Amino acid sequence: MSEQKNTPQTSLVHSAYRAPDGFEAFPVGIHHASTVLFPNVEAMRSRDWREKLGYTYGLHGTPTSFVLEARLAEIEGGTYCRVTPSGLAAIAMVNFAFLKTGDDVLLPDNVYGPSKDLGQWLQRDFNITARFYDPMIGAGIADLIEPNTRLIWTEAPGSVSMEVPDIPAICRAAHDKNVLVAIDNTWAAGLAFKAFEHGVDIVMQAVTKYQSGGSDVLMGAVIVREQALNEQLELAHMRLGFGVGMDDVYLVLRSLSSMRLRFDAHDAGARKLAAWLKGRPEIAAVLHPAFEDCPGHEFWKRDFTGAGGLFSVIFDARFSEEQTDRFVDSLQLFKIGYSWGGAHSLCVPYRMRGMRRQWMREGQLVRFNVGLESPEDLIRDIEQALARM
Ligand SMILES: *Cc1c(COP(=O)(O)O)cnc(C)c1O
Repeated sequence: MSEQKNTPQTSLVHSAYRAPDGFEAFPVGIHHASTVLFPNVEAMRSRDWREKLGYTYGLHGTPTSFVLEARLAEIEGGTYCRVTPSGLAAIAMVNFAFLKTGDDVLLPDNVYGPSKDLGQWLQRDFNITARFYDPMIGAGIADLIEPNTRLIWTEAPGSVSMEVPDIPAICRAAHDKNVLVAIDNTWAAGLAFKAFEHGVDIVMQAVTKYQSGGSDVLMGAVIVREQALNEQLELAHMRLGFGVGMDDVYLVLRSLSSMRLRFDAHDAGARKLAAWLKGRPEIAAVLHPAFEDCPGHEFWKRDFTGAGGLFSVIFDARFSEEQTDRFVDSLQLFKIGYSWGGAHSLCVPYRMRGMRRQWMREGQLVRFNVGLESPEDLIRDIEQALARM
């Protein structure tokens, strides 16, 4: 049969995995290993831990995690992937792989909160400068690049405030000066934004979110195209001891086949809710990349092919924090909780003034994660909570 290029929906179902002869079935076998065995001393001495063809130690992965890594790389359009014990661990692995004492890293001001904290820690205790830039800076990032700048982090859209950056413009400016660009691509799950095609060098995913989809597993991944970058990541992965549990890997593999359909359902539900909220007098702005209120909406239109289930709204300034807290407390289907990407809808209010250097907007910000419930039921829930506010 000739090689056929399948769409992600199909290739998420038909993976390259082949079960052992005589034991054919769809699921990937769960291989556990801490101690691994060698047939003789010669084999023990000659085996290379970087090769995925045989064991050297369980920490580097087993055939189960190698299948997941191959599938995550395929989704992103990358070549190499390493999974880590959490999304935050994946971020840390990128920093430790590509930064050293005396280097400089640039992060968007709306970067995932714990990533910002990690940057500040690098600056305080590791003599690496971490500077935070306006996520809408675009090509203007060129002016911030110093001779010791090694890495520029991006996130599309940024956490909570949802600005969509001009990724190609940032990549061009970075590459002009030989600086690497990494992206936290969790919101788009590798499905709605093909980061490598827009110039990004290193893609990070919080697999905890859509890839897992179960609100149960914590995992991260880093994907690259270039062998040289992969070698640095593998060393960091090995040195940091970022092995993952194979039962968790299996749960993610089990969820992955339905990710495309779940993602599209989250997208459709979120857009329905966002459109309904846009028409409400209580809401001043809908910060959903597919809506014009959202800074960088034009870049989303140009570069993205879909949207995730996560967006924020800003309430009219006449409502106090006490009132919007009452709104969140009055929701019944929406639960109050961090993390997202699972079947359950979530809602969290944020205090933006402490989170952003220059937050000028009046009105309280509330973030919604739209799960897999009926959008009509979710709208009814929001309607009753608005009435109680
Ligand atoms: C959740 C999340 C992370 C971190 O993932 P964990 O597995 O919870 O550590 C990183 N970036 C973004 C955008 C996230 O939403």
